[in-house]
Amino acid sequence: MRCVRAVGYAGFLSFGCTLAVHNAAAESARYSVVIDGSQPVTARVVLTLPQSADRASAVLVSGAAPLNVNPQINDVRCDGRPVDEDAGRWRLPLGCKEATWSVRIARPGPRGILASDQQSVAMQGGWYLFSEPSSLLRLASEPLGGSVISFSGPAVRSEDIQLQPRNKGPSFFVLADAPRVSVRDGALTLTYFGDDLQAVQRLVEPSKHLEGLVYLRRVMGPSTRRINELKVVWLQIANDGNVYGGAAGNDVFLVNYAADPPPEQAVKPFIITLHEQFHQIDPGGTNRPQWVSESLAQYYALKAALHVSGDDPRYVNEWTRWFRKAEKESGKLLDAQQRVRNKDFSAYKLFYSRGSMFWRDVEAALKRNGQEDGLDPVLPIILGATFGPDASLPVEVLRALSGIPESELTTLIETYL
Ligand SMILES: [Zn+2]
Repeated sequence: MRCVRAVGYAGFLSFGCTLAVHNAAAESARYSVVIDGSQPVTARVVLTLPQSADRASAVLVSGAAPLNVNPQINDVRCDGRPVDEDAGRWRLPLGCKEATWSVRIARPGPRGILASDQQSVAMQGGWYLFSEPSSLLRLASEPLGGSVISFSGPAVRSEDIQLQPRNKGPSFFVLADAPRVSVRDGALTLTYFGDDLQAVQRLVEPSKHLEGLVYLRRVMGPSTRRINELKVVWLQIANDGNVYGGAAGNDVFLVNYAADPPPEQAVKPFIITLHEQFHQIDPGGTNRPQWVSESLAQYYALKAALHVSGDDPRYVNEWTRWFRKAEKESGKLLDAQQRVRNKDFSAYKLFYSRGSMFWRDVEAALKRNGQEDGLDPVLPIILGATFGPDASLPVEVLRALSGIPESELTTLIETYL
């Protein structure tokens, strides 16, 4: 019997965790997913509701619509009777004990599978990617004991895995014997999954990637999240587009790549992955505005890639190309933040472009003024800062930038913020 590799939030379920799950079983929601090997591949999901749900009618919700993902769920039933959908919600009849549905699992087409589609997929090599957003319904109110999930089917068998609460972002699971490669540095393991890991490793060497993560953890400071294993699922797409999508869970990232891309495309998956992994290990700040999180993730993804690639001209060129393109954008970051708050998401791209330019110029100013380590010593202060409602830089960050003469700093702030 082969095993399941769970790449969800709880891929490293401990024995203690298993005991806690057992004791809270009556108040837990329990998902059992059975994958059959027939064509088309389907999964059957049985959700045993927690006992507390017996006393009131429970509502199931899909995470697909909020993420703009196509649901793969069909035939929702309660104790065998069909339940109708009402705009992404299923109200179960009073006393419902067991909800069931089926999941139509996708297969990669000739152009591959877009990571951003966040679908459950039967991969070429006989393994599966199971996506929570498209394939699971969750209880609208989180059960007291949380939720556990297990998988079975030909070549698939898992123990109980604790599902993260709904508000913690999506979970993805790699099932059956997926080709994988792992590298480790101290307590941190980086694992790649994918059908063609040789092609992946021509693009990104896992050991270099791990070096980039170790660098990020070091400069982000001691408050980074202690994730023991970061996982990347590499999904090959055709070499004819320029679509390098990604989708992030708590500790797993789905990313697209092409097998033999032109050099300017070849660097993208690594930088996209480092950007997302910056978010994954970022402890999150107090009221930190998106412009700060996104600009730092992008700037440090570029920096980390350059840092570990040495003089690799592909990454030197990407740095130049990125900023040349960013310099064509105009607009102020605090204004863009306000527009995004007012649901004008067209302003979001400035967080990456003008935002990364701001930090690049701040770093250059620090170095010009004798602070050789540039922005790195300031980064933990920014990540730990408390931001006010106007989204400007708080006083502790300004203090940490006081090595830059006041007039210079004022010019930078007036130019970008
Ligand atoms: Zn981001």
